[in-house]
Amino acid sequence: MGAGRGRGDSPHSTPESAPVAVTQGRCHIVGAGLGGLACAVGLAAQGRPVSLYDAAGQAGGRCRSLFDQGLGRPIDNGNHLLLSANRATLGFLDTVGAGDSLVGPPEAAFPFLDLRSGERWTLRPNNGPLPWWILVSGRRVPGSRLGDYLSGLAILCAKERDTVTDRIAAEGPLWERFWEPLTVAALNTAPEEASARLLRAVVMETFARGAAACRPLIAKEGLSDSFVEPALAYLRVRGAEILFNWRLRALEDDGARITALDFGAERRTLGPSESLVLALPAPGAKAILPELEAPLDTRPIVNGHIRLPRPVSLPEAGPVLGLIGGTAQWLFLRGDVASLTVSAAEELAGLPNETVAARLWQDTAKALELDPAEMPPIRIIKEKRATFAQTPEAVAHRPGPGTRWRNAFLAGDWTDTGFPATIEGAIRSGQAAAKKLANH
Ligand SMILES: Cc1cc2nc3c(=O)[nH]c(=O)nc-3n(C[C@H](O)[C@H](O)[C@H](O)COP(=O)(O)OP(=O)(O)OC[C@H]3O[C@@H](n4cnc5c(N)ncnc54)[C@H](O)[C@@H]3O)c2cc1C
Repeated sequence: MGAGRGRGDSPHSTPESAPVAVTQGRCHIVGAGLGGLACAVGLAAQGRPVSLYDAAGQAGGRCRSLFDQGLGRPIDNGNHLLLSANRATLGFLDTVGAGDSLVGPPEAAFPFLDLRSGERWTLRPNNGPLPWWILVSGRRVPGSRLGDYLSGLAILCAKERDTVTDRIAAEGPLWERFWEPLTVAALNTAPEEASARLLRAVVMETFARGAAACRPLIAKEGLSDSFVEPALAYLRVRGAEILFNWRLRALEDDGARITALDFGAERRTLGPSESLVLALPAPGAKAILPELEAPLDTRPIVNGHIRLPRPVSLPEAGPVLGLIGGTAQWLFLRGDVASLTVSAAEELAGLPNETVAARLWQDTAKALELDPAEMPPIRIIKEKRATFAQTPEAVAHRPGPGTRWRNAFLAGDWTDTGFPATIEGAIRSGQAAAKKLANH
């Protein structure tokens, strides 16, 4: 792969000049984000030989950890919130032996703080599908009425072209304290343009199934410890070839099949029974396959990571606090590091880091009752292409896992999983590609 290529990160990596023995039935998976990893794990579990490539020097893609020298702590590229409803994710973690690597409160409880008024409350869905929590003042959104929840049922009748605000009126406490934060967190898209159908899918998987599906969960130590390293270890034990700093440049085909992968200085030919899974972000996949129909517009997420001057804890012994009326929407706590998330952050992503840091510190100091004058160092990470813009138009352009080549498949959170671009969506996409490939 020429000068840009670093080490292959596996005992199975081939030296740069060695010819590559290509095994019958091998599946080549390009992109080692969670979509690619889930696909590789699914195929390796069936005993299929697997080669996994990534252009970066590590796996994990948009879901990974790094060590921040300034903070002296490991942090994640962005805070990732999961829910106990994320069955594919929990199944993936069990398979790779990391089933115990998520943490959350013992019950479904979402503490919130209104940064303007200082009001605090906790949203507590009840067990079972009958949502009686909406009748109980200590469980529901303060200031909301039964009629507000009933109006929200309109989301269940969402049509393909509807945005969230086409179905739900953007006013009142339930909007500001439930529907808006839920939409922005799940779809990373402003409610005025976010797909109501996609939000309905989230509601049906979570709140419609009761508290057991709504426990908030985060990675105990970090995203890489939960999702990436255990998956790589699982693959290595099964003889998978794992190659980093391998950027796919182009594909060759004979009209019916993909016949070779062009990595620049390296080329891989595909034998008659070999297959390809492209598990790249949508713009990357489109660059390789210009004819591909894919949602290309993206939305940013901004995160601020702060090493706190003293230990603190959050209400409900939970890992997250919802914030209303400030800059950040969520505050995550892991040890002495508070991390703030701003989704659908088009405006913030364009501001200088110092301005962003100052605004996020204001929220943090209020939320954790710290001295606002003593701002500690803050690491700002702007993921400008965090997810695709999950609008009705974009959702209509999500392709399924199949392609016009009989040995080539697609994975990635932007493919048509019926679920938003999230960890759960990415893992489902990888599993769907593995299933389609295995059937083929
Ligand atoms: C800041 C942030 C916060 C988020 N918060 C949440 C959250 O709270 N909850 C949640 O569930 N989800 C969240 N997500 C979304 C989640 O991270 C993604 O949906 C998921 O990680 C996408 O996985 P993927 O495999 O589809 O794509 P990616 O992770 O993008 O993986 C694609 C891989 O392809 C590689 N690649 C690209 N081009 C090439 C090439 N030409 N050749 C070889 N390799 C290539 C890339 O290096 C990358 O590793 C968040 C994302 C971000 C960025």
